[in-house]
Amino acid sequence: MTKAVKAKKHLGQHFLNNDEIALKITDLLSKKNNQVLEIGPGMGILTKFLIKKNIDLKVIEIDHESSNFLKIEYPELKNKIIDGDFLKLDLNSVFPNNFSIIGNFPYNISSQILFKTFENKDIVNELVGMFQKEVAERIVCQNGKNRGILSVLIQTYYDVEYCFSVDEQEFIPPPKVKSGVIKITRNKRTKLNCDNQLYKKVVKTAFNQKRKTIKNALKCFNFNEENKINHLFHLRAENLSVEDFITITNNVK
Ligand code: SAH
Repeated sequence: MTKAVKAKKHLGQHFLNNDEIALKITDLLSKKNNQVLEIGPGMGILTKFLIKKNIDLKVIEIDHESSNFLKIEYPELKNKIIDGDFLKLDLNSVFPNNFSIIGNFPYNISSQILFKTFENKDIVNELVGMFQKEVAERIVCQNGKNRGILSVLIQTYYDVEYCFSVDEQEFIPPPKVKSGVIKITRNKRTKLNCDNQLYKKVVKTAFNQKRKTIKNALKCFNFNEENKINHLFHLRAENLSVEDFITITNNVK
């Protein structure tokens, strides 16, 4: 047995230590997707189940100690390990078309993983992953105080599903917070019938002052036909649906 990787806090390393949970996570991948990228395999608890599937698997790991561990323990991974930072990775160079992302993600970069998924929505078909429970709940929230910028942006292009929670003690070392596994699946929306950049700006501005009503939070915008969106003005950002945000963006002058 190769010497276990020493957990490094700055890389968000909390190694899952329960095969049953690992199998349950990998089984969430839909069968129809053949290309899979795992982020942060660590010592490979998910990877070992992924290897057994009939898929084209690549993994990206920033920690050399972990990737060396994987190379020794799983010779099957030869040529499938990318040594590097997921946030700097050009996803098109890994899989130019539809693929899935999976991982027990490093929690310090979970929002950035989701933003990157949003930006690559045309090739990322599905994402299955473990997040800090609070983040997982935020992503799937459709209405109410847990809703935020990422919930709206992700739900614009993905159907979201909260799968299950995982306790701290299932990891070595245990994190300070509970974890949650979610699955997001690309929906049918191809493009917005409003400007994409403006849409993002409207969503961000609305949530930047989330205690205010939409009317006040979006004061910096001028609107064309206020009557079409008047009915949304007294609400808060957290109460608006994706469709509502599209309607609002469509009416920005
Ligand atoms: N999947 C493993 C490890 C989870 S810990 C398990 O379930 O046990 C998170 C992993 O992500 C660590 O291995 C860490 O080194 C890796 N990681 C952290 N930041 C990363 C980044 N920017 N790109 C790729 N991997 C990263």
